[in-house]
Amino acid sequence: MAVKKLNGTVIVTYRCNARCTMCNRYKCPSKPDEELSIETIKKLPKMYFTNITGGEPFIREDLPDIVRELYKKSDRIVISTNGFFTDRIIKLCEEFPNVGIRISIEGLEETNNKIRGLEDGFNKGYSTLKKLVEMKHPDVGFGMTVQDANAKDLVELYKLSDELNMEFATASLHNSFYFVESKNIIKDRMMVAKEFEKLINNLLNSNSPKKWFRAYFNHGLINYIFGQKRLLPCDMAFDTFFIDPYGDVMPCNGTKEKEVMGNLNEQSWEEIWKSEKAEKVRERVRHCDRQCWMIGSVSPAMHKYIGIPALWVIKHKFLRFYKKNKYSIFESKIVRDYKEGRITKEELDKCSTCDINCEANDGLSDNSKEALKNKKGEDIVDEDIKRQLKKDIK
Ligand code: SF4
Ligand code: SF4
Repeated sequence: MAVKKLNGTVIVTYRCNARCTMCNRYKCPSKPDEELSIETIKKLPKMYFTNITGGEPFIREDLPDIVRELYKKSDRIVISTNGFFTDRIIKLCEEFPNVGIRISIEGLEETNNKIRGLEDGFNKGYSTLKKLVEMKHPDVGFGMTVQDANAKDLVELYKLSDELNMEFATASLHNSFYFVESKNIIKDRMMVAKEFEKLINNLLNSNSPKKWFRAYFNHGLINYIFGQKRLLPCDMAFDTFFIDPYGDVMPCNGTKEKEVMGNLNEQSWEEIWKSEKAEKVRERVRHCDRQCWMIGSVSPAMHKYIGIPALWVIKHKFLRFYKKNKYSIFESKIVRDYKEGRITKEELDKCSTCDINCEANDGLSDNSKEALKNKKGEDIVDEDIKRQLKKDIK
């Protein structure tokens, strides 16, 4: 019997050199000697899609070895990065011409640098993108986490991606152990939703079916920021998994506390996937009320329940073509209810995962926590990068 291929996300490190306002991961790095080894990566199952992420994955000097190993078991690999390590990214793409690269850019120059906290971050990210375009790398795109501070840049960034013929991926604010954050929340939902509406209309106006489905994804983001039930079921841990730098296999990156199905350093994949612990995690996924809408959990759901987004796309293309009707945020009942005062901002806030009294869990190992007793996480990582870059120059 053919083995069913999975969709996997490999978090190769929790180290990060950025200082994003919506994510505290940079304060909570993993210790390099504890991070996923090639031996553990060899134990991963066959995958039809693998996302390599962090932290910042290019901090790992052995990333090319990881990618080489993952190509033996994965049909497609996409790496999410903040784009800082230009030379490393270019070199990797030269070796692996099919690898996908998604650079997160959080707005136009000023906004991006404010949110990301990386000196000259926009120019670095953008020049990495341009170099990849110049070398005609086929699978390049950028991603943006839409929030109050950058929503006004959304359509402009989309247009920029379009000019460069690149993918444009969006997300919005989430809270979880992965982001070491529990206080993220959209403050001006109406303003942000209006910007998404413009983006959706641009996407629906294009000739690309892929973009029409992206429009549906963004429609789902409006639904998410208004705290509503997901438009599609969440099936994480059924044919999808995440693995963290410590080898812990998890359903996703959206839970409040880290959910663990097993550990790949200590167990085989089969043992973990068929374990009672994994079944219990799947049970909790079935009843999870966090309603995340992140591409990692939505993309597999859009493929699995293709009829739902397809109907939405057909309806909206039809309305556009025959009735000249544009997509409107007021198609969603919750948005109408909010506008007409039937539900208040405070009531909507309660539907979100934001919890200002909660101390976010960081999912770190005891050893990584120990390293943070005398030094700040960001200082540890900065020193590490300085050392690495000196070595690179030699
Ligand atoms: S969002 Fe990404 S780049 Fe920003 S601090 Fe978190 S891990 Fe780093
Ligand atoms: S909704 Fe899905 S992706 Fe989000 S925390 Fe729950 S199980 Fe994870």
